[in-house]
Amino acid sequence: MTFQGSGPLDTGNVSGGGGGGGGGGRIALGGGAGLIITIVALLFGINPGDIMGGGTGSSTNSASTSQIDQHIAACTVEKANQGDEICRIVATTNSLDDVWPTLMSNYTPPQTIIFDGSVNTACGAASSSTGPFYCPADQTAYFDPSFFATLEQMGGSNGALAQEYVVAHEYGHHVQNLTGALRKGQQLGSQGPRSGSVRVELQADCLAGVWANHADDVSDGQFGVQTISQQEIQGVIQTAKAIGDDTIQGSNSNPEGWTHGSAEQRARWFMVGYQSGDPKRCDTFATNDL
Ligand SMILES: [Zn+2]
Repeated sequence: MTFQGSGPLDTGNVSGGGGGGGGGGRIALGGGAGLIITIVALLFGINPGDIMGGGTGSSTNSASTSQIDQHIAACTVEKANQGDEICRIVATTNSLDDVWPTLMSNYTPPQTIIFDGSVNTACGAASSSTGPFYCPADQTAYFDPSFFATLEQMGGSNGALAQEYVVAHEYGHHVQNLTGALRKGQQLGSQGPRSGSVRVELQADCLAGVWANHADDVSDGQFGVQTISQQEIQGVIQTAKAIGDDTIQGSNSNPEGWTHGSAEQRARWFMVGYQSGDPKRCDTFATNDL
């Protein structure tokens, strides 16, 4: 997806974080098990501290953080459109923060931290292995851009909109934090085909679709994008399917262990949001036909 306009991006709510692996000892992920943990936490991460252990909620301050901060500060629309992943994240947050207030009167923007290696959050410590996540306790979305390469290895698309979908999904969790859906979901169980977790995740996919619907129709003074192509939507579908629980678990997939929903469900709920543009259509708590 191509952003319109030119020049500097709004970086007011985005900052760099992480220690470039400096927190090493705190994060113990072993070989094969590490892959499983990565995938469980993927695109969910309500509380990475539970998975990763440790974590003080303090911020880190390292050379790596300031390098990322410098990178962010220099982000422009042009760089985002040329495929600079950090700037693409920033541009997407700009678009999300323009679209969501038009859909929700009580919307307040989250913070976004782009990190490298590991990061401490109010939800505990996390590393790149955690994948992108949203922490409700500090209302912050966390992204390590190296995740995009991982996603591609998993069969996801490297297309711009497919990457932006990841950012929009995490913002979906922020919207859920504001609406109370996140809390509701956490009370309804963390595993199983109709668990709170699956409902929360599918709703976040739907809310990402709602954003995509409106991203290219924002009016004057808002940060717009050029019309989204069918090919770009296919890229999102490819990524949504690559991170479906059944895709990840393979032939032994047992719905009782699902946390995010199947490939088909993730792709379909994104499309519900994208085609309707209506957050009300994303009520995954109102149906058992997920
Ligand atoms: Zn999620």
